[in-house]
Amino acid sequence: MLVARTIAEVRKQLSHGPGVAFVPTMGALHRGHVSLMERAGQMRPRVVVSIFVNPTQFGPNEDFSKYPRPLEKDLELCRAAGVDLVFLPEVAEIFPSRELPVLVDIPDLTGTLEASHRPGHFGGVCRVVAKLLHIVKPAVACFGEKDYQQLAVIRAMVQGLNMDVAIEPCPTLREADGLAMSSRNVYLTPDQRLQAVGLYKAILQAEKMIQEGETRPGSIEREMANIVAGHGFELDYAVVRDAQSLRPVEAVRPSDRPVVCLLAARLGAVRLIDNRVFAS
Ligand code: AMP
Repeated sequence: MLVARTIAEVRKQLSHGPGVAFVPTMGALHRGHVSLMERAGQMRPRVVVSIFVNPTQFGPNEDFSKYPRPLEKDLELCRAAGVDLVFLPEVAEIFPSRELPVLVDIPDLTGTLEASHRPGHFGGVCRVVAKLLHIVKPAVACFGEKDYQQLAVIRAMVQGLNMDVAIEPCPTLREADGLAMSSRNVYLTPDQRLQAVGLYKAILQAEKMIQEGETRPGSIEREMANIVAGHGFELDYAVVRDAQSLRPVEAVRPSDRPVVCLLAARLGAVRLIDNRVFAS
């Protein structure tokens, strides 16, 4: 496995040979990330992973400086997953101070939900992902459904800018109790870890209601909010939206149009998100 720290090295290593499937990450890798690497390996002969904690997607009061960076463990996981090349740039390699910021915006998707609680977040995500896709030039890039709105934003960016890459959505990996795996789960205290299952419980309740024929988004949203609050979370949002546009729906009828339940909530300083798509 090669480790490249500069754009020039990546370009040199990838200029010839078979196609590449790419998995962008911020490190602190877990089995969810590994499942993306495995999917990438099924799709193309060469797998490239980037590990870059992107400062431009963190707000001023967020956890950029304390975001976990267990580099040796991450490289070991990549090696074990059969990754061919890890791109491990410094911040100045990706965002040199001489460079003027380039912003990509998709106002219909980047002004709602996560964006309301994390202003500027998707601007930072688009900026780094556009750069990484141009540096690595993969045929396929794998993204987790765990970050549902991010996946929608990336798809829209790739489509809207005619970027020549296929975006491969990958299912969310969960712990045994249903908590979605996340690099931020390491921040949870043992008590918070027990409470954290509340997000998944809310999703299961939404599933039950939809299966039983509930069509009013407001009732499902209220039930989800109650369950999340009942587990000690401060709720940011618990909503049912159109699975494609992320716009509110008048009625929940997955057999007509897929919907997605999206949740974000905080346990102390730890903010967790989760979601589930319902389609016929
Ligand atoms: P991150 O390192 O958090 O930026 O995540 C890198 C990629 O891994 C993103 O495409 C995430 O959606 C994906 N990912 C994160 N957690 C999971 C999970 N539990 N299951 C599947 N994919 C995930």
